[in-house]
Amino acid sequence: MLKIGCHLSVSRGYEAMGKDAISIGANTFQFFTRNPRGSKAKDIDVNDIEKLKNLMEENNFAKILGHAPYTLNICSNNVRAREFALMVLEDDIKRMEYIPNNLYNFHPGSHVKQGLEIGIKYIVDALNNILKQEQTTTVLLETMSGKGTEIGRTFEELQLIIDNVDLKDKIGVCLDTCHVYDAGYDIVNDLDGVLGDFDEIIGLEKLYAIHLNDSKNPIGSHKDRHATIGEGYIGIDAFKRIINHPKLRNLPFFLETPNDLEGHGKEIALLKELYIN
Ligand code: FE
Ligand code: FE
Ligand code: ZN
Repeated sequence: MLKIGCHLSVSRGYEAMGKDAISIGANTFQFFTRNPRGSKAKDIDVNDIEKLKNLMEENNFAKILGHAPYTLNICSNNVRAREFALMVLEDDIKRMEYIPNNLYNFHPGSHVKQGLEIGIKYIVDALNNILKQEQTTTVLLETMSGKGTEIGRTFEELQLIIDNVDLKDKIGVCLDTCHVYDAGYDIVNDLDGVLGDFDEIIGLEKLYAIHLNDSKNPIGSHKDRHATIGEGYIGIDAFKRIINHPKLRNLPFFLETPNDLEGHGKEIALLKELYIN
């Protein structure tokens, strides 16, 4: 069965997200752990989380995905910004542990002219500081489009991070279809080739989740502007191949397309039609 969901707003609570997911035919979802632009996270409501856990179990949910605020920069050239990012990531992982055995995704960050090497060192140091043997949450690095000095536009950059992380079984990758396409990977004409590269450089066993987004821009644009499924340069045929690919078809897929709940429901229905059971 296709594991599919979309990004939902955490503001109404955890159980509400589970209900929203079910209402649109989803069996997983993604959410920001806190206001994506800010730092404030609500106090954990254990009761609300218990209700979500029950609902997930009853409805056979796939793993859900918490997303760090996208403004965090763990490899900033500003020490305050780095410390802040570290604090948020640490607190978010603690929050994720209330819903054990799920996924937490963050953007590796931008090195802001400090150079790739220093940027990667900051990311590695942070992860080696935060990750704990006893945690059940898998922390994912997201593939990025390569806007500005973004780290994570190539599989090699992500592997440089993973290579230097001590607790390797706590870390993985979330592949964003819009981002890799904008970064220059031809998932439209050569999906097998791209996945072959991923496997050789990182290893497909490290791939835990897919962000399913079409792109408003052509391959290699480094723009990162998401389009709804089938309305961008990637196109519906490519998405049919992506969700059915033997190396991907059992992973959870998360829509981050510019759509409301009803629109996401339509995209999910379309993808279910394209999925070969
Ligand atoms: Fe993201
Ligand atoms: Fe994404
Ligand atoms: Zn994006």
